[in-house]
Order: sequence, then C-alpha cells, then structure tokens
Amino acid sequence: MDFRLTEDQESIRELAAKFAKEVCAPEVETIEAEHRFPIETFRKFSEVGLYSVNFDEEYGGIGKDALAEVIVVEELTKASLSHAAAFQINRACAGLIDEVGSPEQKAKYLPWMIENGIPGSVCITESGAGSDAASMRTMAVRDGDDWILNGTKCFITGAGVSELYIVCAQTDRELGAKGITLFIVDPSTPGFSIGKIENKMGLVGSQTGEVILQDVRVPGENVLGEVGKGFKYVMANLDGARIGTAAQGLGTAEAALDLAIKYSKERVQFGRPISKFQGIQWYLAEMATKVDSAKWMIYHAAWLKNEGLPFSKEAAMAKLYGTTIGREVVNTALQIHGGYGYMKDYPLERMYRDVRITEIYEGTSEIQKVVIAGQLLR
Ligand SMILES: Cc1cc2nc3c(=O)[nH]c(=O)nc-3n(C[C@H](O)[C@H](O)[C@H](O)COP(=O)(O)OP(=O)(O)OC[C@H]3O[C@@H](n4cnc5c(N)ncnc54)[C@H](O)[C@@H]3O)c2cc1C
Repeated sequence: MDFRLTEDQESIRELAAKFAKEVCAPEVETIEAEHRFPIETFRKFSEVGLYSVNFDEEYGGIGKDALAEVIVVEELTKASLSHAAAFQINRACAGLIDEVGSPEQKAKYLPWMIENGIPGSVCITESGAGSDAASMRTMAVRDGDDWILNGTKCFITGAGVSELYIVCAQTDRELGAKGITLFIVDPSTPGFSIGKIENKMGLVGSQTGEVILQDVRVPGENVLGEVGKGFKYVMANLDGARIGTAAQGLGTAEAALDLAIKYSKERVQFGRPISKFQGIQWYLAEMATKVDSAKWMIYHAAWLKNEGLPFSKEAAMAKLYGTTIGREVVNTALQIHGGYGYMKDYPLERMYRDVRITEIYEGTSEIQKVVIAGQLLR
C-alpha cells in the first residue's frame, strides 16, 4: 500500500489550492451578495488547466484520473462550495459525453468544452421523479431521423447558464428504466426554455432551475450512447460524481476544522484561550478524526475507479460519510465560534448553509444507504 499522491496529483493540488486562494476566495462575498456565479471564473477553470483534469489527452484533457478530480473539488471547496459545485457539476455534462459518447460526439463537444470552459447541465430530476428518477415523464418520440422531446425537468444545476444540456427522457414507457435514453440538446433549439429559477438556502453561486422542453426537435445524431440505456449510463456516472460530492463534504470539513483550531487559540474566556479547555480539545480531536476517516474513504473510492475495479458501494459509502461529517464538522466549528459563528461576518454561517446540499444532491444519504445495502445483500 502506498498512500502517497503522485507528483502530478500533488501539482494539481497545488494548482487548485492556489486558484482557490487567489481567484475563488476573494469573490465569495460578491457571489453571496449577487446570488450569481461569475461565468468568467468558470472560463478560468479552462485557462489555468483545471477543466481538463480527468479527461483524455486526445480530447484536450490532461489524462484520466478520478483522484485528481477529487483533489481539485476538495481544494476549491475550502474557498467555497459554490466554486467546487461549479467545477464539478457544470462539467458533468462533458463527463457523461466522455463516458458514453461516440468518437464523433467526443471530437465535436469535448475539445470545445474543455478549451473554452463551457458549462453544461445534466437533466434527470422532475417534480414527480427525484430519488425514483426512472419514473420520469419527459418523453422523446421518434420522428424520421429526429426525436421530439416534451417535458419539464426541475432542480437543474446550471439551468440558464449552461451552453449544452443532456436530457434524460423516456423513449419507451413500457420498459421503465430500460426505456430511457439520453439526448444532447442545444439550448438554442426552438421549444427549449428555462422556467423557475430556485431561491435556495445556500450554494447561491450555483444557479438551479427548471428546463422546459416543448416539441424540441433533436437530430438522431444527438442520441448519447444507445437508445434505452440512458438510465444505466446516468447511474454509472452518478457513482463517479458521488465521490466528488463526498469531496465537497471533506473540503468543507477541512476548512471548518482549520477555522476552529485558529479561533480556539485566539478566543479568550475565563482568562485563557478556549483551546485550553478539554471540552474544546475533544471537539477538535473528534473533528480531525472524522476528516481523516472521510479522506481515506474518498481517496480509496477514487483509487478503485482509477484501477478499473468495482467502486459503486465504496462511492456510496464515501458520499454518505463524507457529506455527513461535512455537516457535523461545520456544526461543531460553528459551536466553537459561539455567537460569532452565527454571524455573517464569519464564513461558518455560509458553510453551514452550503454543506447541507451535499447530503441531498447526487442521491440523498438515504439513497446511498439503499445502494450500500443493495450491494451487501446481493
Ligand atoms: C441544489 C440542487 C441541485 C441539483 N442539481 C441537479 C441537477 O443538476 N440535475 C438533476 O437531474 N437533478 C438535480 N438535483 C436534484 C436532486 O438530485 C434531487 O433533489 C435528489 O435526488 C432528491 O430528490 P427529491 O428532491 O425529489 O427528493 P425525494 O426523492 O422526494 O425524497 C424525499 C425524501 O425521501 C427519501 N427517500 C426517497 N426514496 C427513499 C427510499 N427508497 N428509501 C428511503 N428514503 C427515501 C429521500 O432520501 C428524502 O429524504 C438538484 C437538487 C438540488 C437541491
């Protein structure tokens, strides 16, 4: 066993940490005030070479490495979850094309997205189909060589910002999950529109909204992968995405722990720094233990993926644990800050609101347990 990162992974961590410190951290307050993620920053992911992480060199990437992607998410999250989510979720569209696209689709979309920092969305969820995604109602009907799409997707990250959308639709309702297909949709296509933009508790830099499809005509060449295999593809993609979401919990927890250590050494009560009280020391020790456990679970899941080994259960465990401890560690850090932790002058208030989403999107914690138990009981 070798727990050391490769030189390339260390360099990517350095690059992401520098970007988080120099680009992301200074604009967090603006994002909070404007509830808007700057597209210019997203483009910079390409400029500095972060967008290209975990894509093949053939298509403009720097090579496949799921662990490197996890490290970028972890570092960006230390500055803000909105930045990490922008990096991870708005690249998911490109990731799915990479995983199941034809060589022509990859050649057409990936270099364009990677080189120009193009945000993309993946549209699965509907108002009546969340955890039970296969019960979606969005329908695609064949018309000659084309397909006609109708339906409404909700809670879509990047809705209205993205320049490309992958839409998950039923092509044969009788077949249920086996009758679902993926379509690459250009938002300038007639009938495509954006509906309600959500007003969220946190993660305000990430725009979340409805995607409405009314008789949207999509050419047959835009079917992603095989007809009827869409659900299988998105579930496989989610396995990988979950490791990244787990890293959002981890990055948040690491940042919160650092803040708590610093504050506990500075804050004086009863004539001494609160770090001298055993009650606070035990909090810090428990937080650090959770951070370390989550880190190795997450890195291990990414390593399994890199090795081409089964990782679905480990990804679900990493997501369940990483996001749970993300919330717990932020909560304890906020407690250590006392009343100041509750004030918007300190970052913990934002981190507390932001990290909550990690237990919900990319499959809720309950669904992670369903996945884990399903594997145990096979
Ligand atoms: C900010 C944000 C961004 C998002 N981005 C995207 C996106 O880009 N694309 C996209 O397609 N979707 C996106 N989503 C949707 C997200 O994936 C869903 O919200 C999530 O899967 C849960 O679905 P739901 O909200 O309908 O909850 P429900 O499925 O209705 O769940 C409600 C509760 O029931 C529990 N539950 C459901 N089924 C079971 C079960 N079998 N056993 C035990 N408990 C169960 C859930 O865990 C939860 O606690 C986003 C959501 C948010 C909030």
